[in-house]
Amino acid sequence: MTDKIAEIRRQLAQIRFDDETIQAMRDKIAAHPQLQQGFSEAYGKYIKGEAVRPTLGNEMQIFYMRERQTLTFLLFPELLKLEYEVARMIGESVMADQMGGYTLPEIMKHNEPIAANHKYAIEEVVEADDHHAVYRHYECADCYGVPNIGMKICAYEAGTAAGCFSAALGKRCEVTETKCCANGDPYCEFLVTVVEE
Ligand SMILES: [Zn+2]
Repeated sequence: MTDKIAEIRRQLAQIRFDDETIQAMRDKIAAHPQLQQGFSEAYGKYIKGEAVRPTLGNEMQIFYMRERQTLTFLLFPELLKLEYEVARMIGESVMADQMGGYTLPEIMKHNEPIAANHKYAIEEVVEADDHHAVYRHYECADCYGVPNIGMKICAYEAGTAAGCFSAALGKRCEVTETKCCANGDPYCEFLVTVVEE
C-alpha cells in the first residue's frame, strides 16, 4: 500500500515551475477576466460588510478546509510546491491591490493587520529590511491546533505572500515557512527573501 503512495509521490516530484510555466499560469488566469472581476467584486462587498452568500454569509468553520489540505499534504507533500505556486497567482492577481507601501518594511507594516481583519491569523512582523523580512502568524487558520505531523503546511500563506509582496515591490520575492504548528511550533513563522536579479 505504501508503495502505491510512493509511486504517485515519485510522479508528483517531477512537477517543475520554471519562469515559462509561471508565465503560462498568469496567461491562463488572464484569459478568464470574469474570474478576476468576480473575485475583486467579492472583496469589494466584503469591505462594505456585504456577504457573497445571502443566507450563510462569508464565514464558515475552518475544519473542512483544514482536513482537506492537511491530509492532502500528509499523503503527497510534493503538492506543497504546487499549492505555493497557485497561491502566488492569487497573491499577484487577486490580493495585490490590497497592498500598500513602497519598501519591503513599509509593505510588511501595511499588510500586518489584514490577517486579523480577515480572521485567518494574528500577524506580527518580527523584522524587515530591504532584502528580507520575518513575520509570525499566531492562531493560524490552517494549522493552529493541528497535531505535530512533522510538516510545515502553510504553503497557501507563503505563496499568496510571495505574490502580494512581489507585486507591491516590483521585484520577485520568495516566502518560506520556517515554523508551523503542524511541525510542533507554537506559531507559524515565515521568511521573506527579495530575489535580486
Ligand atoms: Zn503553519
